[in-house]
Amino acid sequence: MAKKQFKAESKRLLNLMINSIYTHREIFLRELISNASDAMDKIYYKALTDESIAFNPNDYYIKITADKENRILTISDTGIGMTREELDDNLGVIAKSGSLTFKEENEIKDGYDIIGQFGVGFYSAFMVADEVTVITKSFDRDQAYKWYSKGADGYRIQEWEKDSYGTDIILKIKEKNEEEDYDQFLEIYRLKAIIKKYSDFIRYPIKMDFTSRRLKEGSEDEYEEFTEEQTVNTMVPIWKKNKNELSPEDYENFYSEKRYGFDKPLKHIHIKAEGAVSYNAILFIPEKMPFDFYTREYEKGLELYSSGVLIMNKCPDLLPDFFSFVKGMVDSDDLSLNISREMLQHDRQLKIIAKNIKNRIKSELSNMLKDEREKYEEFYKSFGRQLKYGIYEGFGMNKEMLQDLLLFYSSREKKMVTLSEYVGQMPEDQKYIYYAAGDSIERIDKMPQAELITDKGYEILYFTEDVDEFAIRMLMNYQEKEFKSVSSGDLGIDSDTDKENQDLEEKDQELFDYMKNVLGDKVKDVRASRRLKNHPVCLANDGDLTIEMEKILNAMPTEQKIKAERILEINHSHQVFQSLREAFANDKEKLDLYTHLLYNQALMIEGLPLDDPLEFSNDICSIMK
Ligand code: ADP
Repeated sequence: MAKKQFKAESKRLLNLMINSIYTHREIFLRELISNASDAMDKIYYKALTDESIAFNPNDYYIKITADKENRILTISDTGIGMTREELDDNLGVIAKSGSLTFKEENEIKDGYDIIGQFGVGFYSAFMVADEVTVITKSFDRDQAYKWYSKGADGYRIQEWEKDSYGTDIILKIKEKNEEEDYDQFLEIYRLKAIIKKYSDFIRYPIKMDFTSRRLKEGSEDEYEEFTEEQTVNTMVPIWKKNKNELSPEDYENFYSEKRYGFDKPLKHIHIKAEGAVSYNAILFIPEKMPFDFYTREYEKGLELYSSGVLIMNKCPDLLPDFFSFVKGMVDSDDLSLNISREMLQHDRQLKIIAKNIKNRIKSELSNMLKDEREKYEEFYKSFGRQLKYGIYEGFGMNKEMLQDLLLFYSSREKKMVTLSEYVGQMPEDQKYIYYAAGDSIERIDKMPQAELITDKGYEILYFTEDVDEFAIRMLMNYQEKEFKSVSSGDLGIDSDTDKENQDLEEKDQELFDYMKNVLGDKVKDVRASRRLKNHPVCLANDGDLTIEMEKILNAMPTEQKIKAERILEINHSHQVFQSLREAFANDKEKLDLYTHLLYNQALMIEGLPLDDPLEFSNDICSIMK
């Protein structure tokens, strides 16, 4: 039988994992038990819904045996088993679809969070074992197989004998060394403690044999050894327990055991609902964003159980897109076991559950924002963008649900504020909620367009994510205050410059017209600025489309490029304006040069590419001459 190589990436990952990723080696057991339980869920469900499969609830259990002498630990399940192909597919490739590349780009900070993102739970066996053997028989095949591997250099699969379907995972436990006492993983009481800690809530019995001594019958001093099988886990699923029986650690363990994520959840929500529809749910708000969260591959959804039987791994209909980061499960006695994917979508009960869940998540987030601001900001860093997408995608339909969960950086507070905090601080004469969009806080800080508004003492919200401005457009207003970009043509502020504007002479209008002509259709107009204080020029926009939005839309891979209506604004209290006037009167060639220079400067300040950098450079040289 030829030995198969693990795919090259897998090899590297395997080494990496064995040597560094998991901080606690003992969790290999949780991983294997979790797999066994999943395999049993699959067959259990099949047996309940397919009459051709014999069904006896007592048939479903996990058995753990330890053979100290030979250093063998076995985890057996009566689950669905694997076919030869499944063995190859499931245990032959570790890192699927470029996840390793991701790992290399992102330094592992705290070990544990990376591994679950690959689905390599099974391989954690190599943290404690030199050799791993899997003997498995699929429920619908007659032939069983043996898979064998010594770790990174590959694996073999061969035909094998096994009576009933299910899987045995057989570990040859490593020899004890200075770093780790591997012997503990052969000690029955230690194993029991590990199971209690991580896998107590597994629905199926986890059985172990305990050997102890007792007095021989009829004897007063002679003892005999006897072995007794015990179920070590409580088996009551955590969601059926009372909240007051459970500690935060219990929820955290459940989160890891279920592989919802390898971070620690930021918050758990335990719902026990009775009434129109009865259900239990445990939901988690993760701390960290899964690495594939903003990709197409990410699948939202909650696990769905019907009377304790898992019927769907990720039921998307239970979560709105804007809460797609939520993990967890729902168990209801009111759902039919045989319900199909299509039927579920129209299921009235499910709709009610989904609605309750949505409202509950919303109120938990609101409370977190109110009572645990730091935690909320942590959450918002990871998932705030998703809330904004929610506003944008729903055409404002989810406004009521989401607007008070938004945070933006404030120019005045120098930290994140809510819209309600912003409006609460508005001076009476302020009509609009002002915002400035740009790549970063530092960059927006320097935007000349904001000068007048800052001068007025008005606060500005900084929009640094590309979705921000689009989301706000959908919102349109908040507490009847409209949003206004600091770059928009009309700021709605009466300024001192208005009076000065009247001082502008008719001749100046001719000057602006001339400059507009020089620039042609690069700009819609050249005007005296009402917002600039210290800077000589800036770009503003007329119409709905801002220059920031233009940048974002044009960065998308579409053929058609769009253009905001640009206005070149000149600060007429600036010295430069005098030079323009003089050039207009005496030297038109110079005015042409100045106009181009100012326009290019405005582009640069805006972070836009110059139409012709070489020409710009030549222009600079010619004024130096
Ligand atoms: P994950 O469970 O995260 O998908 P694993 O590496 O732990 O990743 O397992 C890979 C796959 O191997 C599982 O998804 C499952 O299909 C299969 N598998 C693992 N253990 C068992 C088992 N005891 N019985 C049946 N299938 C199993």
